[in-house]
Amino acid sequence: MHSRDKIRNIAIIAHVDHGKTTLVDKLLQQAGTFREHEAVQERAMDSNDLERERGITILAKNTAINYKDYLINIVDTPGHADFGGEVERIMKMVDGVLLVVDAFEGTMPQTKFVLRKALEQNLTPIVVVNKIDRPNARPAEVVDEVLDLFIELGANDDQLDFPVVYASALMGTSSMSPEPEKQETNMQAIYDTVIEHIPAPTESVDEPLQFLVTLMDYNEYLGRIAIGRVNRGVVKTGQPIAVINREGATKQSRIEKLFGFQGLKRVEIDAAGAGDIVAISGIKDINIGETLADPAHPEALPVLKIDEPTLQMT
Ligand code: GDP
Repeated sequence: MHSRDKIRNIAIIAHVDHGKTTLVDKLLQQAGTFREHEAVQERAMDSNDLERERGITILAKNTAINYKDYLINIVDTPGHADFGGEVERIMKMVDGVLLVVDAFEGTMPQTKFVLRKALEQNLTPIVVVNKIDRPNARPAEVVDEVLDLFIELGANDDQLDFPVVYASALMGTSSMSPEPEKQETNMQAIYDTVIEHIPAPTESVDEPLQFLVTLMDYNEYLGRIAIGRVNRGVVKTGQPIAVINREGATKQSRIEKLFGFQGLKRVEIDAAGAGDIVAISGIKDINIGETLADPAHPEALPVLKIDEPTLQMT
């Protein structure tokens, strides 16, 4: 297991088309997780049933990179208001967010929607002014718009003190300076700002296990896959657990397989601790909002809001 202080859990939020996908791809690529052509293959594999059955492709929502000796878990978020519950749940799973804003377009309706969710969870966003390469980019004005939005949404003093990184996800460049000619030809300004400004998990590994099922994935081979954050304690392969549903009823089950994230892949691991984001298979009928707990301490985590259509999945 990683030492807790070397873990960073972030979500990435943005208005559609402001460059979230391009940014995550570049962050993964430059961290040496894979080369560009492999990334394309990985994405293409999503439609490949065989790979799905083997259980190695993941929900594109969860990715992770190793940067220096840090593990940075990145959770993608839906920008649409129909998925408000999902955005809220993801905000509870992470310790910080990257708010991506187009350097020309500035703040848009979904920027406000997702930022509100992050501020409500007391997260301090890092603002990434993206597309700094655009000839008509107006980074200084866009930062002012972002600041206005923070104020309008009632951000606290810490949140108002947000760091700003200027980037071109497309070109793979970033900088703490708004001058396009001062861009560094790598994403280091973003990695370093994440490590410096996003807090490491603080939960204890020495308490009884609690894990909140926050997202669901499914594949033919593994069945239902519960994704979430270990809220306290340690989770291990083969371990018996109590599953507490949203009504408070408890049943006994067992962790069959446990996965961490590496690049775009899910990798099998033996154990994970408080603060880790992991995927778990082997629990029949598991659902979003349920708590997995130490059978000797079957304590549920607070009930989550669920409102998106994906829950119809069986
Ligand atoms: P998402 O909807 O937020 O995931 O946005 P995408 O990553 O799919 O990007 C939307 C469009 O913006 C695509 O055509 C990208 O190529 C383009 N784009 C993303 N980042 C940049 C950038 O830094 N500069 C420029 N000029 N275009 C970008």
